[in-house]
Amino acid sequence: MPANQCPLCNDTSPTPYWTTVWNAPGKQVLRCTSCDSFFLDPLETEDEQRKFDTEYDHYIQARSDLVSKYTPQTFDTLVDESIEVRFRDLKQFFENHPSVLEIGAEKGGFLDRIADAAGPTVAVDSCPEYRDVLQNKGYRAYAYTGDLPTGEIYDRICLFSLLEHIHNPQPFLSQLKDYLAPSGLMILEIPSSNDPLISLYNNQAFKSFYFQAMHPYVYSEKAIRMLIARSGMLIEQIIYKQRYGLANHLQWLKDGIPCGNAFLASLFAGRTDLEYIKSLESSGYTDTLYVIARKA
Ligand SMILES: [Zn+2]
Repeated sequence: MPANQCPLCNDTSPTPYWTTVWNAPGKQVLRCTSCDSFFLDPLETEDEQRKFDTEYDHYIQARSDLVSKYTPQTFDTLVDESIEVRFRDLKQFFENHPSVLEIGAEKGGFLDRIADAAGPTVAVDSCPEYRDVLQNKGYRAYAYTGDLPTGEIYDRICLFSLLEHIHNPQPFLSQLKDYLAPSGLMILEIPSSNDPLISLYNNQAFKSFYFQAMHPYVYSEKAIRMLIARSGMLIEQIIYKQRYGLANHLQWLKDGIPCGNAFLASLFAGRTDLEYIKSLESSGYTDTLYVIARKA
């Protein structure tokens, strides 16, 4: 029996959308027809989630093995390139030495990049291996937001590719908001349910790859706006961001595999690819949303 309520907007008519979830036998994907988000069914319990967190490094290794079949690049290189894109897009928010708290800081790739511009920085990551790396780099690092000293406030709180992992997002954001300075900004990057490979192309192979156990939700713009408001915050700005370009999409449509295609990339490099991405971003059909919020 599928869940009879959307955990994000409480609408009572979610419908079955996709029958498989990568690395999670027995789960399916439901789509909320009211807020347009996707969520896994059944959702994991908090205890299952904590167990999952401690094994996250193994999970990432399995995902890396899957992706490495299709690209000569290492998974670490792909992650690093993705952080570089984020840094270029968002560095304007880290000028003039703001204090920064990053939740889900992984190995500190983003914090390293803003180190010169930012003020004091603190990291949270539930994966023990990542925490070791962060601490070896000299960052103050905690496992969970509940471990942060009470009373500390930050000018920027960053959640990059993080919210979609959180099982109970509204209390999580409400509590996190208490760590935000009065004029501070919470900056989120989330996968969007309006990803063109789903919303425009309905690509079956992509769906089998995309929906995975570590992402209980894929948010729509409508759902994230609602969630931010219910958490006592205001949206300052939503930026439509398309990370993957034409060659990546054509490769999914052509062969149903990830990581793009070098020949197609060279054929459509430069203006063609830029214009394609620009068209998607200006129409809101993007794989990613940047969400900038502040306290209400
Ligand atoms: Zn909903």
